[in-house]
Amino acid sequence: MSSASRLTSRRAFFTGLRGLPDNTPDKQQSNTIRPPWAVKFDESCTACGDCAPACPENIIHIGQDGRPEIDFDKGECTFCGACSDACNEPVFNRTGDTPWQLELSVSNKCFAENGVYCRSCGDVCPEGAIRIIPQLGGRARVLVDNDTCTGCGACIGTCPVTAISIRPATEIPHG
Ligand code: SF4
Ligand code: SF4
Ligand code: SF4
Repeated sequence: MSSASRLTSRRAFFTGLRGLPDNTPDKQQSNTIRPPWAVKFDESCTACGDCAPACPENIIHIGQDGRPEIDFDKGECTFCGACSDACNEPVFNRTGDTPWQLELSVSNKCFAENGVYCRSCGDVCPEGAIRIIPQLGGRARVLVDNDTCTGCGACIGTCPVTAISIRPATEIPHG
């Protein structure tokens, strides 16, 4: 994976997954993830739906607004570009720095953080972006390197207690 496809280069190294708010019903719309590289989605997507069946991973479904959404519970994005290839509108720009800017959060359901042995997310991450740091009392802290994470979503569906969620990034103060 090239550096151009990194999640974002401006985030703090090894940001703790905890501390970001969980999804709540009133935030579901803003948490909608559109296909990668869809930089002019709001103004250019006509809701034709052509991108959804084009995805070989079947992670694109049509949402309540009639437009495509990514569902990482179904699988991961391989950044194959088939969705953008299928689109006849000026929605996508694959020359950009990143396919999307997403951020991960983990709820307090996480096995490792509750003292139950689990390394599922770290084991499945193709980028080695997740570190699970042992803590006192048999617990562990789950950390993600946001500079390495591509937002592929592979860790989402593999978590046995659905503790990991992903959403469009918001600005995080950095210095
Ligand atoms: S880049 Fe490929 S795997 Fe990712 S959402 Fe588009 S079609 Fe699916
Ligand atoms: S193919 Fe393009 S215009 Fe059609 S639903 Fe997908 S993103 Fe929107
Ligand atoms: S598996 Fe999760 S942490 Fe690893 S690159 Fe994909 S989204 Fe990021």
